Amino acid sequence: MTGKTELSGGPSLPQERRVVTAVPGPKSQELMARKQASVANGIGTVLPVFARRAGGGVLEDVDGNSFIDFGSGIAVTSVGNSAEAVVRRATEQLNDFTHTCAMVVPYEPYVQVCEELAKVTPGDHEKKSALFNSGAEAVENAVKIARAHTGRQAVVVFDHGYHGRTNLTMALTSKNMPYKHSFGPFAPEVYRVPVAYPYRWLTGPENCAEEAAAQAIDQITKQIGPDNVAAIIIEPVLGEGGFIVPAKGFLPRIQQFAQDNGIVFVADEIQSGFCRTGQWFACEDEGLVPDLITTAKGIAGGMPLAAVTGRADIMDSAHSGGLGGTYGGNPVACAAALGSIETMRELDLPAKARRIEEVMKPRLEKLAEKSDIIGDVRGRGAMLAIELVKPGGKEPDPEATAALAKACHQQGLLVLTTGTYGNVVRFLPPLVIGEDLLNEGLDVLEEAVSGL
Ligand SMILES: *Cc1c(COP(=O)(O)O)cnc(C)c1O
Repeated sequence: MTGKTELSGGPSLPQERRVVTAVPGPKSQELMARKQASVANGIGTVLPVFARRAGGGVLEDVDGNSFIDFGSGIAVTSVGNSAEAVVRRATEQLNDFTHTCAMVVPYEPYVQVCEELAKVTPGDHEKKSALFNSGAEAVENAVKIARAHTGRQAVVVFDHGYHGRTNLTMALTSKNMPYKHSFGPFAPEVYRVPVAYPYRWLTGPENCAEEAAAQAIDQITKQIGPDNVAAIIIEPVLGEGGFIVPAKGFLPRIQQFAQDNGIVFVADEIQSGFCRTGQWFACEDEGLVPDLITTAKGIAGGMPLAAVTGRADIMDSAHSGGLGGTYGGNPVACAAALGSIETMRELDLPAKARRIEEVMKPRLEKLAEKSDIIGDVRGRGAMLAIELVKPGGKEPDPEATAALAKACHQQGLLVLTTGTYGNVVRFLPPLVIGEDLLNEGLDVLEEAVSGL
């Protein structure tokens, strides 16, 4: 019974890697031709196969290939694809009603999700939430709320930060290509300061936290003026920037500065949240209690849902009718979130994420010792990465990174790349993945590294 639950997900999908055609196979190639003819070029493709089914730790394509999933649809299907409780609750909700608009006529699942968010997020102060459809929307709304609360305008973000693809969140995002290039002008009153990136800190990792915090605080003080700052927004583990874990001490120092200056401290946990890093939220690692926290990705087992959760007095700063959206907190997505949170509790997914780290990290570290192109191994829980460099130094090697990802794809392992310099391979397996598959995926990776 427990074994079955752990491997549940897609409709009893065999938990195996299976490559039966070239990747992509003929059916995928046919669909890709149709995609190219009908879907805008801006919508890219990481692995050019078309999905048929997915569940547990695998994704099956239309040609019958089965990939070990080290991506989870970018940290979304942490409970697996089509997890039993997600499907059950969403199906029940689909049968009852699909939409009333929460701002027109409310419904209980919306309230239940907000109650759960108050329970699972850090801190035992009084909290409230508002629900949205996407991570970017959640971040935008956190900024609206912080501005309403403080009566200030400036927003501080960090080097290597990623917060979304809408106009304001493009402005908040650090990396030009592909997120911002040719899409400006961007929203004003956004300021970017250094982050404690240990591997690339010029004076070395030892003093990185202190020096980076001092630089960030000096820039905020001298260039903006703390009294003008509404919010400081940071990912406690930076996702698209390259799975950068800020050096210990940096985040608490920044939060303290925010608190001392009446600035709303926002943790963007859209990628790192919901059990991914081995705790419910990555902030917990250093005991941080953010004023506001943004969530999305892992929250609802693949259904579109996002939230801003935080101190009730801050959340209530926006006037009635000032927040919302037609679909925000859709009832089916809320039901899926309740199923997803239920699964996280029942299967103790934070513990599963820690177990994934126990299995993966030593093997990645051993691989890095043997290989002169892996400069760094980092991350926590099931949010792990390797940074690829030219041998003998730290010069980023995005070509080797792309080649490594492709080699893995050819052998039936789905991995994603990331990073400001495009030189990071990231690992985000579903937290319900079986240990055999996890180890087999690592075998494939090791072989691909030695074949480069
Ligand atoms: C993915 C992501 C976003 C944007 O979420 P969308 O749902 O794609 O809009 C924002 N912040 C972080 C940290 C993310 O990883």
